[in-house]
Amino acid sequence: MPIEHNYLRTRIRTENIVANYTRLRAQGGQVVSVIKADAYGHGLLETATALAGAGCESFAVGSAAEGAALRDAGCTAEILSLLGPVLPEDELLIIEKNLVPFMHDFDQLARLAVACTRLGRVAKVALKFDTGMARLGFVEADAPKLAEMLCASPCIEVVMVSSHLATADDPGAFEFVAEQGARFARICQALRHGGLTFRASLCNSAGILAHAGAIGFDARRAGIALYGVNPFAGSAREALGHGLLPAMETVTRIVSVHDLPRGASISYGRTYVAERDMRVAIVAAGYADAYSRGLSNKGFMCLAGRRVPILGRVCMQLTAVDVSGLDAVRPGDAIHLLGGEGPGAVTADDLALWWGTIPYEVFCLLGLNPREHV
Ligand SMILES: *Cc1c(COP(=O)(O)O)cnc(C)c1O
Repeated sequence: MPIEHNYLRTRIRTENIVANYTRLRAQGGQVVSVIKADAYGHGLLETATALAGAGCESFAVGSAAEGAALRDAGCTAEILSLLGPVLPEDELLIIEKNLVPFMHDFDQLARLAVACTRLGRVAKVALKFDTGMARLGFVEADAPKLAEMLCASPCIEVVMVSSHLATADDPGAFEFVAEQGARFARICQALRHGGLTFRASLCNSAGILAHAGAIGFDARRAGIALYGVNPFAGSAREALGHGLLPAMETVTRIVSVHDLPRGASISYGRTYVAERDMRVAIVAAGYADAYSRGLSNKGFMCLAGRRVPILGRVCMQLTAVDVSGLDAVRPGDAIHLLGGEGPGAVTADDLALWWGTIPYEVFCLLGLNPREHV
């Protein structure tokens, strides 16, 4: 359910997502498009449709329900559920909608096998291994027992074996990536030795850009880079992610423009006091629109190609910016919270830095606003 009845519009350029997909595919291997959480706020169905049109044959969503929504919309590609079955009804969705759940423990496998036997169906699964995240997954020592068990279980078909990198986007931690890669290779070898055949998948976006040569394996799961963020922006390895195109921008409207004399304060708590005579614009955006209050006195918007600083606290639906010297500004004018023209454009990395978060969260939150696909 999007945020309703506001003036923000989040615009998505699906052609840029497709261009990023093509760019990532050029690094080799199968690219699984990660479109969990409503495609990181970019729109599940619109994103999947555009990528399927570009030849993508495998998608990764979050919950089984998200996968079922994608299947019901007519998607015929492989749909992986990264969260796997959490509730009993998820098992039914997985079987009926032909989803491929990530499975992280023996009990889960046993429960799915029971459901398959009851319905007389076969379920495809992806095994998830922990090689360094310590979040979810089987461990290396489970591999022989798993292979034996699954070779004897005709209703469960393993199509993928996966693990997730903890530090792929940190140039100072490439050693840990190599360690995870080596452990994952041993796991895959043990499972194949035990008689299983599957696609191996380790890399996320940063892994594809920096490590695919050494540990690309068969399938790579691309998320944030599809949406145009370079995981190495601002680091010495920035060039690894060159050429990615942002796909999301968020625009709203100016409600009022007025003078703020030197010495006057603005907004709740009087946290900003004008140090000179200023002109301010009051903008229709606030924390109710998922525009974080953490941007108070920190963030910038982009107005006609220029960066304009936020003055005082971000309110529920209004925020003040400094437009001194910009005489042509009028109520009703468009102003960018994300994106914009020229060097003043606000990137997801900029917003994340001011906001104290990562671009992933910026997309998920601004993607809650009414969206247009162009
Ligand atoms: C979200 C997710 C990805 C994608 O990661 P990015 O850093 O966005 O490329 C890959 N694998 C798993 C298991 C994930 O949950």
